[in-house]
Amino acid sequence: MTCPLCLRVEQTQTHQYPYLIHEFENSYLYLGEHQYYRGYCVLVTKEHYKEMTDIPEAKREVLFKEMMIAHSAIEKAFLPKKMNMCSLGNVVPHIHWHFFPRYADDANFNNSPWLQMHLFETVKVTPDERSELINKVKDKIF
Ligand SMILES: [Zn+2]
Repeated sequence: MTCPLCLRVEQTQTHQYPYLIHEFENSYLYLGEHQYYRGYCVLVTKEHYKEMTDIPEAKREVLFKEMMIAHSAIEKAFLPKKMNMCSLGNVVPHIHWHFFPRYADDANFNNSPWLQMHLFETVKVTPDERSELINKVKDKIF
């Protein structure tokens, strides 16, 4: 079976995936397809790595900087109370990081964002909202 994130990388490179926020040297930053947590984004490595330890040493530092730039841009764009970041990969074993901005009015603030996973698909964005949110993050990437 084709890896869904390798497929997404391929679709990005052929301009068929409209959620791209920014292309870094080693990764792509995407707006999440659902926005249950406003500002939810995902950073995906261009290459298929199952574990972080599979990333060649020479790329690790650059990739970490890309992660920090993404983190900072999302934080500046949405002003969350706290950013949650996670990389699991049990379902899709291609290294990626989820960025969940968490807000003060979040009823489940002390819990993992994944506990609300069943509600994620209830908050989809229209193409206009998608462009607005993408630009909001893009404006904060330096
Ligand atoms: Zn992959």
